[in-house]
Amino acid sequence: MVNSVNGVDVTALVVAARDGDQAAGERLAALYLPLVYNVVGRALNGHPDVDDVVQETMLRAISGLSSLRDPTRFRSWLVAIAMNEIRRHWRESQSGAISADRLDDAFDLADPRADFVELTILRLGLTGQRRQVAEATRWLDEDDRALLSLWWLETAGQLSRAEVAAALELSQQHTAVRVQRMKAQLEAARVVVGALAADPPCVLLEDILGGWDGVPSALWRKRLARHARECTVCSGHGSGLVPAEGLLVGLALVPVAAAAGGAVAPELLSTAAHLTPASAATGTSARPTSRPSAGTRP
Ligand SMILES: [Zn+2]
Repeated sequence: MVNSVNGVDVTALVVAARDGDQAAGERLAALYLPLVYNVVGRALNGHPDVDDVVQETMLRAISGLSSLRDPTRFRSWLVAIAMNEIRRHWRESQSGAISADRLDDAFDLADPRADFVELTILRLGLTGQRRQVAEATRWLDEDDRALLSLWWLETAGQLSRAEVAAALELSQQHTAVRVQRMKAQLEAARVVVGALAADPPCVLLEDILGGWDGVPSALWRKRLARHARECTVCSGHGSGLVPAEGLLVGLALVPVAAAAGGAVAPELLSTAAHLTPASAATGTSARPTSRPSAGTRP
């Protein structure tokens, strides 16, 4: 199998970048930025630190290329680094290194760019059950959403199961079990999304929703899914659902330039290429005036 992305020989690029070719490093970062953005964006849906985690991932990958023994395994290695950065982000959130206010802000932002689910729906033009699956992902807990971000890309044809397992640091058998469990939660969430969107709404469901703050969560998914299972009206939303795999097949990556509003992508790229986090943080690099095409560059 030729290891290529958009017709580019990735292995040759990795070897050149590893040997210090800065242009090759820049090209490699440009090629894989959309993949990393989709992994991190979906795992940390709605969190304002998505761009930082993506940037840190690209920096670590490009600057750490010398430790990659097998250049044909670059993608697997890169996704594993992204998952490590996501886990680190969780640890810092839990330890209070990231304030709770900032976490809450994620859901208060009026800017739809902050919510990767909304972005996915808008940029990929998702409708019907595809849209419902994307909306259902908001109801998963943290662990499941990270797993979902990998499984989504596997189902869409962007990652292999071996790469998903490697990124999770699990065996393929254990990965299959985890995926089954996550999918069961996703299916329950799809029914919840359908019940909440019903018009006219179920009156019994409205009673339960009196205590809900409007923020999708695993706790409320459980409550609402329990109702939906037992309710003759709401349980109907579970019938006729196409398996999520079938809906995600061949789905494209959410483009980075659009996701980042046109400003962040080139900064990520220049940071990754020049390996100087300090200069990127101070914003000394020239900001391009034209609309960037980082996410769509062939
Ligand atoms: Zn009901």
